[in-house]
Amino acid sequence: MELTYKSLNGWSCEDARELYGIRNWGSGYFDISEKGEVVVNLSNGEHSASFSLMDIVSGLRARGVSLPVLLRFGDILDARIKLLNETFAKAINEAYYQGAYRAVYPIKVNQQQQVVEEITRFGRRYHHGLEAGSKAELTAALAYMHDPEAFIICNGYKDEEFIDLALYGLKMGLQTIIVVEMPSELRLILDRAAHIGVRPRIGIRARLTAKGSGRWTESSGDRSVFGLNTAQIIDAVDELRQRNSLDCLQMLHCHLGSQIPSIRTIRSGVSEAVRIYANLVREGAKMGLLDVGGGLAVDYDGSHTNFASSSNYSLEEYCADIVEVVASICDETGVSHPCLITESGRATVAYYSVLLFNILDACRIETHALPEQLPKDAHELLHNLWEIGQNLSAKNLQESYNDAVYYRDEIRELFTRGDISLREQALGEQIFWHIAVRIARETRQLKYVPEELRGLDNALADIYYGNFSVFQSLPDAWAIDQLFPVMPIHRLNEPPKRSAILADCTCDSDGKLDCFIDLHDVRHTLPVHEFRPNEEYILGVFLVGAYQETLGDLHNLFGDTNVVSIRVGPDAQMGYTAEIHGDSVADVLSYVEYDPKSMAERFRMLAETAVQSGRITAEERRIVTEAYHASLRGYTYFES
Ligand code: PLP
Repeated sequence: MELTYKSLNGWSCEDARELYGIRNWGSGYFDISEKGEVVVNLSNGEHSASFSLMDIVSGLRARGVSLPVLLRFGDILDARIKLLNETFAKAINEAYYQGAYRAVYPIKVNQQQQVVEEITRFGRRYHHGLEAGSKAELTAALAYMHDPEAFIICNGYKDEEFIDLALYGLKMGLQTIIVVEMPSELRLILDRAAHIGVRPRIGIRARLTAKGSGRWTESSGDRSVFGLNTAQIIDAVDELRQRNSLDCLQMLHCHLGSQIPSIRTIRSGVSEAVRIYANLVREGAKMGLLDVGGGLAVDYDGSHTNFASSSNYSLEEYCADIVEVVASICDETGVSHPCLITESGRATVAYYSVLLFNILDACRIETHALPEQLPKDAHELLHNLWEIGQNLSAKNLQESYNDAVYYRDEIRELFTRGDISLREQALGEQIFWHIAVRIARETRQLKYVPEELRGLDNALADIYYGNFSVFQSLPDAWAIDQLFPVMPIHRLNEPPKRSAILADCTCDSDGKLDCFIDLHDVRHTLPVHEFRPNEEYILGVFLVGAYQETLGDLHNLFGDTNVVSIRVGPDAQMGYTAEIHGDSVADVLSYVEYDPKSMAERFRMLAETAVQSGRITAEERRIVTEAYHASLRGYTYFES
């Protein structure tokens, strides 16, 4: 579908910035250069530099790394960790809050080894800890988190092995806190601690009654599946008292859900948590730590609202509000200010990664002029449709649309009954699309567009085929309709004249992106540039560092993409600091229990049988076998 802009000649990068909202969601990390390319702004403390994503791609090509590729920007991660810790420190300072702040990173948000390793390294100066929600995550945490002042918060349901590991960590000098998620866990923790000979540090996860807002509403409130309700908390306190272990209860934990777009929800959840905290102090528990979980939202669409993909508060507001709510309730109830802990995952890692992929092909609805006349023997219904095209005007758009749809459907019916030929049916479709495009063009001039005509532009959108898998790289876009900023990374000094949806290469009807960010609503098409078959056209999906990498699956056996880390090097040069090759075909086949070696042997036998039966020559056998081996070694995505 062709897009028009008021002043084509005056198109500038500023228009592109506005169209794609990059300054709204980019948080200063991403922008558009005067050359019309997306740039990433990086700073390592000593040096700052802007790098064009197109230059990064050229550098990767020269090094033999092909698209699709996931770029990770370590300097952005470093900056996010700094920002979170320093904003809390500032809020604490300004409110004369008496407790400290400690962040922990929930490993589940992006479990990749490189991510966890970098977080522990960049976060060391702030004693930024880790949150482990399973035995495997705790095993990773114990290998990477050796800072005796940072916390390792153990959430999730726990068996004896999980509890023992956490207790051994504590015995060795780490600050592992075991959070009781189920009433039955408490006894097990106390028994295992007695057996191992260590005084456990215990937290209780409270099931708050405050209901979250946004996408994860169901993970909070009375129906939440996690945590203890107030009656169960009191039982736990009694059990601890009975076993002379109230000194072990040191933390209250809560988590309202991820991506909470409204600050009011956060305030009311934290208020409820502090009330419980203060009561636990009154009951005689040692306490000292208040963990308010995750939920700090990312403004994916840049609208700064309480829409599910946005956030109506800034980081400053988030920190100041939490500090203020905790301080005021503690002061009112005469309880010392606890050390505050947050488990911000999404807001820490989302900006860190960008997915880049190339467009393989584009398909558009071809519209032809209305034929001057129809063949004499054309079916009557075709004549009726043609006349709608003849008489179409700004005054009868809705009526013409209704009639055109009616006749198009009738013509399709005739074809299925065998009453008209394929050629006649094609002519009917051609006339129909001609009418639809004209109606869509006219409706753009209208102040009020009738309901039924509103979706017409979307129905006429082009399809751009991208070299990526939604299921592997953007699972939340498919599973929970999460919106991510998507845009071309070059040609931005030209107006994007087409509007398109993006299909991935999985050949699954759900394998597409057809919801895009918008300041006021959700767009169903993306403005893109004309696809030129012999020229590269590259799009980026931004803010994909949280939750996307390990939730992805192997649909159609498209595997992990290449991953490349970029940092500002000495002299502000671009440094390609790490490369992780994406899965090969043999890799993904082995994940689903194939043995690539025996597959190659089976293929060799097939080829040899073909030689024996005279279908191919021995020389051809060498060629086909080499092709098979090359395919096993190759990338699962399209390679040029
Ligand atoms: N803490 C817990 C217990 C969680 O379940 C989650 C994820 O939902 C988080 C922290 C991370 O939340 P977010 O990514 O919103 O910061």
